[in-house]
Parts: sequence; structure tokens; C-alpha cells
Amino acid sequence: METTKLVLYNTLSRQKEEFVPMHAPSVGMYVCGPTVYGDPHLGHARPAVTFDILFRYLKHLGYKVRYVRNITDVGHLENDADEGEDKIAKKARLEELEPMEVAHYYTERYHDAMRALGVLTPSIEPHASGHIIEQIEFVKKIWDAGFAYESNGSIYFDVEKYNEKYHYGKLSGRNLDDIVTNTRSLDGQDDKKHSYDFALWKKASKEHIMRWPSPWSDGFPGWHMECSAMSTKYLGEQFDIHGGGMDLMFPHHECEIAQSTAALGHDSAKYWVHNNMITINGKKMGKSLGNFITLEQLFKGEHELLTKPFSPMTIRFFVLQAQYRSTLDFSSSALEAAEKGLDRLMKGVDALKKIKPSKSSSIKVEELDAACHNAMNDDLNTPVVISIIFDWIHTINQLVDSQQTITEEDLALLKNTLNVWIFDILGLRNEKQSSSADKLSPVVDMMLEIRQKAKAEKNWALSDEIRNRLTSLGIRVKDRKDGADWEIE
Ligand code: ZN
Repeated sequence: METTKLVLYNTLSRQKEEFVPMHAPSVGMYVCGPTVYGDPHLGHARPAVTFDILFRYLKHLGYKVRYVRNITDVGHLENDADEGEDKIAKKARLEELEPMEVAHYYTERYHDAMRALGVLTPSIEPHASGHIIEQIEFVKKIWDAGFAYESNGSIYFDVEKYNEKYHYGKLSGRNLDDIVTNTRSLDGQDDKKHSYDFALWKKASKEHIMRWPSPWSDGFPGWHMECSAMSTKYLGEQFDIHGGGMDLMFPHHECEIAQSTAALGHDSAKYWVHNNMITINGKKMGKSLGNFITLEQLFKGEHELLTKPFSPMTIRFFVLQAQYRSTLDFSSSALEAAEKGLDRLMKGVDALKKIKPSKSSSIKVEELDAACHNAMNDDLNTPVVISIIFDWIHTINQLVDSQQTITEEDLALLKNTLNVWIFDILGLRNEKQSSSADKLSPVVDMMLEIRQKAKAEKNWALSDEIRNRLTSLGIRVKDRKDGADWEIE
């Protein structure tokens, strides 16, 4: 079976495109990271896992990937249209902390949750507050190009003027006319010429604590500015992939494109990749809807919508069971199903140990890798990869029962291919196989060998005793024709 080439859906062109990096084998990827003012929640899991899969897969294909994922610790106001308090400053005020204490605490919480989910750390994780100079320089470029205006110490992007030369709205498929009619008027509330203009630099009010000097005023950068400035700094004026959740497409990514185009004269990202959102029992997740679930609540089972705790790998597997562009509806029962599926998959991998090689193979092991590549190359179709692996788990069970045969060489290839796909690319982990279980394993195997000898000598009393003692230790023994399997309950 021949493998295909990687194809990604590009939001910008609205079609699947073959992935051709600009400077192979190097690939530059920028993904919008979290605003660190609250506990990481279910909504953080999907983009993190989606772009982790893309990162892992690109590396598997042999690319040298520079993956930049930012931390937003300044400039993200409560309302995306430049209104309200800074999210981090507000939390700091409520908790009587320094804003950077808030940012640091929740960045650590985010890292812990990502590690638990098996999400690899990016190559660079720049903080917005650490790149104020770069952001001021970027605003100057937009100013010099004539697409910005000053109003009471704040600098705004002139969307109308930009739209005369370029197309504002090309990513989200909007035109300025639609945006005008759909944006509620903010007349009198700020200094903008038009409601759709956005802040590049905001003058800080007296009580605003997060502030830096600039040529225009003591203030802080607009939320969208950090991504234009930091992607350019670390990936250059043009790079391969820009990713994020669909909720960021407008206004955040649209504004990023406008800023970069205004300052540089061209687009910065070649492929725009967006993951769809997670809904909860069919509804959008939101604090006001009472269905807001943090990852810690999920791991501990502490939420009224949960029947029990769910492990980080169950969450990861659940996310991978849907293609990243399709909706994914969360419910406790859906997670229970994911938990069972993951358990079956890990047991299948464990069962590889029980296969006895033959002189010939009745199966074509090389088809596994090719089929997985074909599915993954089709815009990262992880659910199809998982279903292919499940077909092979079925084959593994047939091999254990000697309904199929496999040579020693093919068995080694099968083990290797499954390891690569399940652990390296899908990034799953066998949570039941703790290091203590690893050490326990040969001991239990030894007990079962002694029991096997006892059975051969018809010493039923000893055989039963070993079995019962293991059961009382929480190790369940299942007899087979020529031996026994065991599992920790
Ligand atoms: Zn961004």
C-alpha cells in the first residue's frame, strides 16, 4: 500500500492543501496559547492535543519543527473588543496579588495539566509581557505604513483604510459591510473612529497597574499585537503554520493577519489551521451556563456533570476520537465509553507479549503503518487511525488464540509499528502500567508458572491457593488452554 502526502485544511483557502513547507526540512508553527488568569479547563484540552498531534506527526515525518506557543499575560481585556478590565489585572485585584503572581500561578497550573495530558512542551513559549519592546516596534511599523491613528494616547488600527488596499475579513469569510452591521455601536465608550477598529496600544487609566512607557503614552499593547510581534520574532516574516481554536478566528486571527499585512506588506502564515470546539451535552461551555469544567475537576471527578473521575489519558483519547475540525460533544457517558476503548486498546498492546511466533505469517503487517499514514495524511484523521489500530487489536487476539500466524520478524515489526503510532504519534500512555506494576509483573508471572507446575502435578490445593491469594491482592487470574493471563483489578 502506497502512502499519500500530508494534506491539511487551510482555513484561509477553505480547502485541503498539500503541506509543502517553505524551508524544508524546517517547519515553523505558531499556536495561540492560553490567557493565564484561571484554571486550565476542558476547552484548553482540544487545541493543546490537536497541535500536539500535528507537532508529533511533523517530527515523525522527519521535519525539524520550531513550535512557538505563547502565554498571554497582558492585554487580553474582558471583552475582545477592547472593553473592560485586563483579565489578569482583574484577577490580581480580586485576589490582592501582583498580576505577575497570577500569571505565574496559572501558567504553572496549565503546564501541569498539559504534562498530564501527554502534551509535549513547545520549542519556545514566549510571554506577551516579555515582548513589550517588540510590540511597540511592530505598532511603529503599522503607523509608518499609514494604517494606524492616535486618539487620546491610544493607537488604533484603521480597518477601513486597510480594507481599501487589502481584504479585512478574508480568514473568517466576512466583508467589512457584514462586520459593520454585526458590531454593536460603542459610540461614546472609547476613542475609536469605528467600532470595528481595534487597539494596537492602549493608554492606561490611572488605576491600571500593568503599564509600560511608549512613545504615545504609558500603557499596554492590544491583545492581538503580541502574536504578530512574537511570531515574526521567532519564526520570521513568513512561516508555515498558524494554529488555534476556531473561537480565535475572529476577531483575534483576523486582526493578526491585518497587523502583519499592514506592517510587512504580506501575509505571515501559509496554512491557517483551526480546531473545532468542545460542547457539553450539546451546549457551548461557559461559566454562566453552569457547565464549566476544569481539567482538575475532570481528573478528580468533582463536578455535578461527572459520574466519576476520568484520567488524563481518557481525556486525550476522547479528544483523538474526533477529527479536529468536527464538533466534539462532551458528556460523562461519552468519557466512560472512551475509557473502555482506551482500556481495550492497552490490553491489546499487552497481549502482544503472549503471541508465539510461527514459521510463516498469515497477515500482512506492513499494511498497518501504511494505512495509519494514509489516515493521518488526510488532515490528521485520528479517529480513522484509532479504528485501524482496533482492527489490529482484533488480529492480535486472533494471533494469541492461534487463529492467525506470524513470524518472529513480523511480530517485531508489529510491536514496533504499534509503539510508534500509539505512544509516539498519538501520544498515549499506559496509565495502569506504573513503574511498580512493571516490577510486579515478573513476580506474578513466576507465581503463575509455579501454579502451572502444580496443576501439571495435579496439586489442585496449591494451584487454588496461589490463585486465591493473588485474587485477594487484587490480581485477577484468567485461565487459558496453555497457561493463564492476569490483570490488576
Ligand atoms: Zn494569537
